[in-house]
Amino acid sequence: PPDSEQLGRSTWTFLHTMAAYYPDQPNPQQQGDMRSLLANFSKFYPCGYCASHLREEMKTDPPVVDSRQHLSLWMCQTHNKVNELLGKKIFDCTKVDERWRDGPAD
Ligand code: FAD
Repeated sequence: PPDSEQLGRSTWTFLHTMAAYYPDQPNPQQQGDMRSLLANFSKFYPCGYCASHLREEMKTDPPVVDSRQHLSLWMCQTHNKVNELLGKKIFDCTKVDERWRDGPAD
């Protein structure tokens, strides 16, 4: 099976970046497409226990797809639940655009 650490880093990069560039005001089609993308993603993510954990997570806390800001926050909170599970540092979700969209203000 793939290296779950390397896969995880690459996948979070994709997921957070996708959320950071999602529309501010997505139309109903885009909202439906994002909901399907995430539901289907969790069926094929090639780390079995990660995927099943994510599916459980999405049942109790479904993706919020009505805006870029809400999706980015949902992704951050979902990643933080995994961070917590793994004993990693909790990420400050107010910094999500700086990390994944705008870059540091410097
Ligand atoms: P990662 O957690 O991969 O983070 C990469 C970068 O994202 C960090 O350096 C930081 O800059 C940024 N970041 C960190 N937290 C946040 C946040 N909350 N919001 C925004 N940006 C943030 N591994 C397991 O062992 N068990 C699991 O159940 C598991 N489930 C996973 C589920 C999913 C959907 C994914 C994508 C990965 C999962 N992983 C799981 C892998 C795990 O989350 C890490 O990717 C892996 O351990 C490598 O961690 P890392 O310390 O390199 O940083």
